[in-house]
Amino acid sequence: MPGSSAIAVAHLAHRYGETQALRGVSFDVAEGAIFGLLGPNGSGKTTLFRILATLLPLQQGEATVLGNSVASAPDAVRRLIGVTFQSPSLDVKLTVGENLKFHGYLYGLSGSQLQSRCSALLDALGLADRVNDNAGELSGGLQRRVEIAKSLLHEPRVLLLDEPSTGLDPGARHDLWRYLRQLRESSGVTILVTTHLMEEAERCDRLAILNHGELVGIGSPDELRASVGGDCITIQTDNLEGLAGRIREKFQLQPQKLGDALRIEMENGHEFVRDLMEADSGDVRSISLGKPTLEDVFIHKTGHRFWDENEAEES
Ligand code: ADP
Repeated sequence: MPGSSAIAVAHLAHRYGETQALRGVSFDVAEGAIFGLLGPNGSGKTTLFRILATLLPLQQGEATVLGNSVASAPDAVRRLIGVTFQSPSLDVKLTVGENLKFHGYLYGLSGSQLQSRCSALLDALGLADRVNDNAGELSGGLQRRVEIAKSLLHEPRVLLLDEPSTGLDPGARHDLWRYLRQLRESSGVTILVTTHLMEEAERCDRLAILNHGELVGIGSPDELRASVGGDCITIQTDNLEGLAGRIREKFQLQPQKLGDALRIEMENGHEFVRDLMEADSGDVRSISLGKPTLEDVFIHKTGHRFWDENEAEES
């Protein structure tokens, strides 16, 4: 594994009883990168996250943080990582400053060293003016930022964030990511986030896409989109089979069936849209044409949507 990797995972597999949660996942995260693990529910993100955080024993394969194995050197890994979980971890009856201070004590920090780290992090995360407010009075976005400040107190070189934007409104999400970028620029910390949100994945330098415990794509959001190529056309229709058959016959294309829609990837999609609408618009309820999105990348790699119909409605 290359020495410059902040995180290196090779042939990682994990099972819970009958359930195979990870099936031989391999990837590297360069130092200083913001790296996303994108996948729908049940794809294995949390399992991978917990293995890297040394909270789940390694069953098969390798996982290292800055060259230290999570299996043979878990204490060294723990000193190098800061972890922020999805579930809230602040004491809402304490002030922001007290939350940080007590967390610092757990890491053996005290006195002026603790004071100066707290101040630096409160500044870095835009929280300096809230230091004396009770954590419970803060908005969800500010609470998340306090949690991140806590996880950075011992100056970890790798920050692991589990679904950091979940539950935040778009404004708070935007702010959170602005602060994460600033942190990366100022301290060089490597950041790994798990996410099921395309919008969050778009903000990462690189992404690993997981599906049923398998890595189905890796690259920058632009590289991943370019791997689809051309345009993506989605046709909503009440006559899926009939229209698909005619498109195959007349245009020699192979539309993919997704729910009640047909999907086609092709170069110069606008010409096909024009030709189809001129020749055979009767069964077309709506038609859309666009450059590939990360959702299209997921469909391209897996043959199915990111969310199944029920989850899409819930989300
Ligand atoms: P994600 O975080 O992407 O939703 P998980 O890593 O939580 O995915 O889950 C991957 C698979 O492992 C799913 O099928 C899930 O039901 C299963 N799983 C996760 N945790 C456990 C557990 N503690 N016991 C049994 N199965 C589990």
